[in-house]
Amino acid sequence: MDSYANLYATVDLGAIAHNVGVLRDCSGADVIAVVKADGYAHGAAPVGRAALAAGAIALGVAQVREARLLRRAGIDGHLIAWLHTDHTDFAGAIADDIDIAVSSPRQLVRVVDAARTVGRTATVSVKIDTGLARSGVSPNEWDATADALAAAAAEGSIRLSTAMCHLAFGDEPDHPLNSLQSQRIDDCVADLKRRGVTPDLVHIANSPAALTRPDLAHDAVRPGLSIYGYSPVPDVGDFGLIPAMTLETSVSLIKKIPAGQGVSYNHTWIAPRDTVLGVVPAGYGDGVPRVLSGRLGVHVNGRLFPNVGRICMDQLVIDLGPDGGGVAEGDRAILFGPATAASGEAVPSAKDWADGCGTIDYEIISRVGSRAVRRYV
Ligand code: PLP
Repeated sequence: MDSYANLYATVDLGAIAHNVGVLRDCSGADVIAVVKADGYAHGAAPVGRAALAAGAIALGVAQVREARLLRRAGIDGHLIAWLHTDHTDFAGAIADDIDIAVSSPRQLVRVVDAARTVGRTATVSVKIDTGLARSGVSPNEWDATADALAAAAAEGSIRLSTAMCHLAFGDEPDHPLNSLQSQRIDDCVADLKRRGVTPDLVHIANSPAALTRPDLAHDAVRPGLSIYGYSPVPDVGDFGLIPAMTLETSVSLIKKIPAGQGVSYNHTWIAPRDTVLGVVPAGYGDGVPRVLSGRLGVHVNGRLFPNVGRICMDQLVIDLGPDGGGVAEGDRAILFGPATAASGEAVPSAKDWADGCGTIDYEIISRVGSRAVRRYV
């Protein structure tokens, strides 16, 4: 416990290990665990360590900076970073043995220059735009990139570690573009082989594809969301994934109010009867969406109590009812987490929150703020 903290994001590392196993079993392929954005806000280093210990073969992040932080945290496994700017320090990345996924011939030239400067062979992946039209080598730049990769590999300034692409419709398993993107990366890899350079691994599948399309898995899958225990295709199933994070605090204050009293900013809720309120010390500054004001249930002692009035930056208010619901100051208040097996009402999930505010659970979990102290169980 941190005696100065109000809010905790408790992360079950056993769930992370379990989810790595689910992804491996469903896909029949190795797992590259995506821990960008601080491990979808679960803590990149602890999650990364747990995933590698559970058999993940590599960790994926967007920025070289994120990969360097993992190195500094003592993680010595395979790290792939795939999103760079003109300012990214590739020499530093090479010195830290970070696998740099390039998205253009220009980026490759910069990596080759950096490798010559450092005097080491750079580990390079090629990120290919097979249809997402985001980062990745565009079709019109493919020939130049493949030529440059072959030349750089031949001179020893790079070693081609992996070829990757990202799916535009991974969460629509039967969408025809999924198979087309798979075919396109196969064509690019065949082209590289003809030029004498073969990547060690090919990986294209994010969480939904890893869970539902083993035929697209190639050598490894590259899931993020499902590492944290969420199904990106809940209509298809939950695949036995276990959500790793519980966002929790305790009821910090209880007060009685009379009928007619307005609650929180602008009194958007007026008590219809004498009632008892509980103050919950978590707000939009911690990632609780303000748009859920009046629509959020907080789980205390096996019951869901409705949030009333506006969600504020640091706190929100729940209505405990005229008899106070048997809740005392200091009682554990769960904002979201895995459904508990215990009797009582189900704990809200990050997906419930996402549905309540018209977004996806990716956004809910990755917005959990830094004031929520991460603790690992
Ligand atoms: N690969 C890349 C390039 C990504 O950007 C992401 C996340 O957006 C992932 C893999 C993981 O995706 P998901 O969280 O849907 O599994």
